[in-house]
Amino acid sequence: ATQENIRNFSIIAHIDHGKSTLADRIMEKTGLISDRQKKDQYLDRMELEQERGITIKAQSVRIPYKAKDGRDYILNLIDTPGHVDFSYEVSRSLAACDGALLVVDATQGVEAQTLANVYMALDNDLEVLPVLNKIDLPSAEPERVAEEIEEVIGIDCTDIVKVSAKSGLGVEELLERLVERVPPPKGDTEGPLKALIFDSWYDSYQGVVVLFRVLEGRVKNGQRVQMCATGKKFEVTKLGVFSPEPTDIKQLAAGEVGFLCAAIKELKDAQVGDTITDPDNPTNSPFPGFKTIKPMVFCGLYPVEPGEYDTLKSALEKLQLNDAALYYEPETSQALGFGFRCGFLGLLHMEVIQERLEREFQAKLIATAPSVIYRVTRIDGVTFDIDNPSNLPPQEKIQSIAEPFVRMEIHVPNDYVGNVLGLCEEKRGIQKDMRYMTSTRVVISYELPFSEIVYDFFDRLKSVTKGFASLDYEVIDYRVADLVKLDVLINSEPVDAMAVIVHRSNAAYRGRALALKLKRVIHRQLFEIIIQAAVGSKIIARERVSPMRKNVTAKCYGGDITRKRKLLEKQKEGKKRMKRMGSVEIPQEAFLAALQSD
Ligand code: GDP
Ligand code: MG
Repeated sequence: ATQENIRNFSIIAHIDHGKSTLADRIMEKTGLISDRQKKDQYLDRMELEQERGITIKAQSVRIPYKAKDGRDYILNLIDTPGHVDFSYEVSRSLAACDGALLVVDATQGVEAQTLANVYMALDNDLEVLPVLNKIDLPSAEPERVAEEIEEVIGIDCTDIVKVSAKSGLGVEELLERLVERVPPPKGDTEGPLKALIFDSWYDSYQGVVVLFRVLEGRVKNGQRVQMCATGKKFEVTKLGVFSPEPTDIKQLAAGEVGFLCAAIKELKDAQVGDTITDPDNPTNSPFPGFKTIKPMVFCGLYPVEPGEYDTLKSALEKLQLNDAALYYEPETSQALGFGFRCGFLGLLHMEVIQERLEREFQAKLIATAPSVIYRVTRIDGVTFDIDNPSNLPPQEKIQSIAEPFVRMEIHVPNDYVGNVLGLCEEKRGIQKDMRYMTSTRVVISYELPFSEIVYDFFDRLKSVTKGFASLDYEVIDYRVADLVKLDVLINSEPVDAMAVIVHRSNAAYRGRALALKLKRVIHRQLFEIIIQAAVGSKIIARERVSPMRKNVTAKCYGGDITRKRKLLEKQKEGKKRMKRMGSVEIPQEAFLAALQSD
């Protein structure tokens, strides 16, 4: 294919605005997949995998398209991950494109992730083509939403494409517009090889499969390649394109998109954002901005049964093969025994992994409250990071503790502005900006401690805005704050796995809430249980679980869980999950109680 006839593009959208549906419809309208295939897509993929011995992932596909001008084009649709936790991967996928279809739900309008995605697309110099979706719905307001896009994003919407991704209405026109408006790739096809990795995953037959866009030069099957970030060299054993099934190809030149296998054993040897080059004729300008993805949120994961440690370990190993962002290392807790400290990109990533461990690997887990990374400076001047509150040195040895801050944009109907401001202030936020996007929608910008987000921000925001807010955030820097460790003692024994780091001004409140919450979830036992919360040696809250009297068994269970979080709802069924602390039986909910504000 000559570059003139190639179009590399992504679909970007706020969640639920119809990205996946539109991708399916495009594949169908271009004849890439038939109706039958669509129905059996899952099955087909499984069969194909077995046939070809390669996993097909995501919706990054090469689509041959004959345009109305009679010319044959190759459209490379490049998939982007759908969640804020994966914003770096999104940015790399966009970097592999020349244009983006900006899908906006015509019944909704511009949301936080619409904007975040647009900014990322513009950062990557993409041609952004706005598309109004769901125009089949009676509640669609194409004129209003088009105006909103024009006002808020500043893209001309006079002849905006209107589609129904569901029915297919307007999709053909959209494809014509795409070919017209998205520029073809440019790039020296004869220069040294320079290809950007925008996705990679582990395949049990082929090792790591790498998806890339050739920016300059060409890559041939059988040649040796080198990863710029690690310097490691591999021989290409398989080169191809997904269309949608994997199809072998001899070479790919600048502007083209494809996959390669090269007996790469570990995902970290082919990381998203890295540049592939030719070791014999290396590029002198690897693609800029390579970042090793770093976990931001940590928690302890422990097997309920000590005997299941090895099962958990091998489950984590398997998951990590396909998830370079998942981090884990062995950890021991006095309260919980042998387990793992696990790191995640964000809360959603954490929930997904916990769910997969339980569903796919039948691992019964006890999870501790998530923590961010704190930067501690000791009085001797040494600075280091901790991701586990129980590793905090004693107060008298600490000079300062810094915590990560995020910049957050919240989009909300103006009726809820007061509530959102109240919440952000309560969360130690610093207001940066507030502007009316339209006469009824407001964008509120705050800088907030990440730990407050991890605590209960999403649930609170949802409840104070009746679910009408959308948000986007990124971690920006570390700031010193007056932070202390809040310890929990049960019958005078500190429970290491329950310690949390909190702002001093919140310590008393959080300590009381935590002790009360524990009182509600810890059953009465044959003896008295004293629950205390303490900062250093100072006890700030105390609760007592009175001993069980004879005949009182049925009602001794006080677990009133009102929290909506999926993560915690799941814990209801986990009431069986107990850990013995000395002589006290502590249920799973107790370890997550630190998350709850009620
Ligand atoms: P994504 O999160 O952006 O990938 O959104 P999806 O493609 O999963 O779509 C979210 C929901 O909107 C699904 O229930 C779709 O069936 C629905 N949907 C998507 N496009 C349309 C459309 O054009 N019309 C209607 N009525 N529903 C749509
Ligand atoms: Mg989707």
